[in-house]
Amino acid sequence: MIKLTNRPEFLFSLFGNLAKLEGIGPKTTMHLGKIGILKPIDFLYSKPTGLKVRKFVKGVAEGNVDENVIVKATIVKHVFRKFGHPSYIEVRDDIGKFNLVFFNAKRDWLVLNFPIDAERIISGKLERFSNEFQIIHPDYVQKLDEINEIPKIETLYSLTKGISQKLFFKSVGKALALLPKEINNVEWINDNRLSTNGWVSFKESLNRLHNPLNVDDFSVSSPFCLRLAYDDLFSHQISLALSRNKVRQANKNRKPIIGKLSQLLIQKLPFKLTEAQVNCIKEIKTDLSNTKRMFRLLQGDVGSGKTLVAFISMLFLAENTGQCALMVPTDLLAQQHYSNLLRYIKGMGIEVTILSGKVKPKIRREKLERIKDGTSQIVIGTHALFQKEVQFKNLQFAVIDEQHRFGVKQRFDLIQKGDSIDILVMTATPIPRTLQLSNYGDLDVSIIDEKPFNRKRIDTAVISETKIEPLLKRLRLACKRGRQAYWVCPLIEEDENSELVALERRFLALKKYDSSLTVKIIHGKMSEEEKNESMQSFAAGEVQVLLATTVIEVGIDVPNASIMIIEGAERFGLAQLHQLRGRVGRGDLASSCTLIYSRNLSSSGRERLEILRNNDNGFHIAEEDLKMRGGGDLLGSQQSGVPKFRLADLDLHLDILTWAQEDARRVVTDNPELKGIEGSNIRLLLFLMGREESLSLIRAS
Ligand code: ADP
Ligand code: MG
Repeated sequence: MIKLTNRPEFLFSLFGNLAKLEGIGPKTTMHLGKIGILKPIDFLYSKPTGLKVRKFVKGVAEGNVDENVIVKATIVKHVFRKFGHPSYIEVRDDIGKFNLVFFNAKRDWLVLNFPIDAERIISGKLERFSNEFQIIHPDYVQKLDEINEIPKIETLYSLTKGISQKLFFKSVGKALALLPKEINNVEWINDNRLSTNGWVSFKESLNRLHNPLNVDDFSVSSPFCLRLAYDDLFSHQISLALSRNKVRQANKNRKPIIGKLSQLLIQKLPFKLTEAQVNCIKEIKTDLSNTKRMFRLLQGDVGSGKTLVAFISMLFLAENTGQCALMVPTDLLAQQHYSNLLRYIKGMGIEVTILSGKVKPKIRREKLERIKDGTSQIVIGTHALFQKEVQFKNLQFAVIDEQHRFGVKQRFDLIQKGDSIDILVMTATPIPRTLQLSNYGDLDVSIIDEKPFNRKRIDTAVISETKIEPLLKRLRLACKRGRQAYWVCPLIEEDENSELVALERRFLALKKYDSSLTVKIIHGKMSEEEKNESMQSFAAGEVQVLLATTVIEVGIDVPNASIMIIEGAERFGLAQLHQLRGRVGRGDLASSCTLIYSRNLSSSGRERLEILRNNDNGFHIAEEDLKMRGGGDLLGSQQSGVPKFRLADLDLHLDILTWAQEDARRVVTDNPELKGIEGSNIRLLLFLMGREESLSLIRAS
């Protein structure tokens, strides 16, 4: 039994260059690349979007308008007309006469291809024009013995400029011919699934998907379609199961967790933990104490208090001289977590280090040294935390904050950093069930489903930019009373400078309105120091209005700030607006959020903003947004690292997804190294689906 570890040679042509397919040159390759067709196999995984069924008729009079007919006819005469008018060819079938119409066709070409009195088999869409039947630009005009060249059923595909339906369809046929005989007798689906569903082989299913025999074959619930959807999902679930297994294999050797420092921190808090926080901490503590490794997602709406859960969890290990890393998306957030944590653990004797953008090389070297010898027990930073030069003495726990873009590939990378590192990923982005199964099936999930009790609802208003005067008045009054506000300006064009211009303009306008207002600016183009400086003086209460771009979108926490004003609100996504709004309402103060829309906003645009006004639950907002936009994806799959399924459709194939997960988990539990015939068959599937990357998880063990 050969154990596949590399792509087998018999798949090379399917995964090779497109140019190997006849009829595909460099230009066509370029066009195909735009719709994701890079290799011959990609043709096979392009699901047809429609069907063209052709019907034999003795004469077109038997057919209906808009039907595609195949008919034998004799050429009667040519009618050439002046430029701007179509030429036509009159033909006669067994019942009567009709016309073949051509726009911009060369006379010579018509004469050559339609000799008078010749018999031809013609196919095309039947139309009626001033009481005569006609076919405009027939798809096929064949000699009598070439009748079989006309497909009775032809699958249609979504195309792109420069790619014709005919070329695509033919290429699919050629790619099908590349499916090697070596896969004929290979089956990775268990007998039971196959027989109860009446599924046939992978190869046969692909053949029928692209060459359906009838309309039923084409339906999304045809056994061919379902089997292929299963293959797509199953191979992905195998990857997830391998990743899950790899995580669970690790055998941690930890001292028992007492949790004295965590307790101390909790006692120092000026508020009580919510029940949801307590439960999540409990789940995490159990995982940390376990010999198996933790791989957990902590999900909670913005403001639900995830950071604190992370801090408390880290102390469980720091107390026993283990090291912890907290990774965040921006330096700004690293700085904030750093100062908060310092405040919380003062006097506990735990050393915290921040590794951020710019520090003098000497200081950086010292920091790295203290991480390496284990003196620094908690390290906070951006993704730079996982660079090679950062070496830990005893890294036990990695927390990844605000990670919406956590793809399978990044998880593989992270898992391989060390065998016994526990991992907690925190996100505010709601994850629907399908996505949870499809993308996070290898993670355990903890959910913070309540907000701290002292939270008041954020009073949200939607106003036109023409009503900005009264808003300024209220803002000035509130600031006089010691309130603090964020004022967010949008990116106007895809030009980085435009947002700076918008900030500058707003800054001058605010100063002109009331020169005694203290206003500071913060944006992505500033240096780390400048950003920190603005942020810290705002946090310290020295600044009344923080004029910002979306750099403050994620994670920023200044409890005293209670006013959020967002200009050009219609330019933001709803989820993003919800995140921004979540920057206020964090303390005891009643908070407000004002969404300012531009003069010419459509009524549906306004309605979209109203969703936010009526809703303060991130999950509902995402759902409503989805409904309004109609379809699409909740997270924006581009962003979230969610895999793209080409043969499966998560909206239609939820039960198949569930089966795929069940089967994959069973296989990987019983046969973790994918050995023997079963293993080899599944390995072949992974190669066919381009998901062989996950095999590295077995190899490394
Ligand atoms: P997020 O879940 O959005 O990351 P944070 O961790 O930033 O939320 O917490 C928001 C704010 O709420 C912080 O100021 C934090 O100190 C505070 N907080 C956290 N837990 C509680 C609680 N149980 N009661 C009151 N305030 C809390
Ligand atoms: Mg946070």
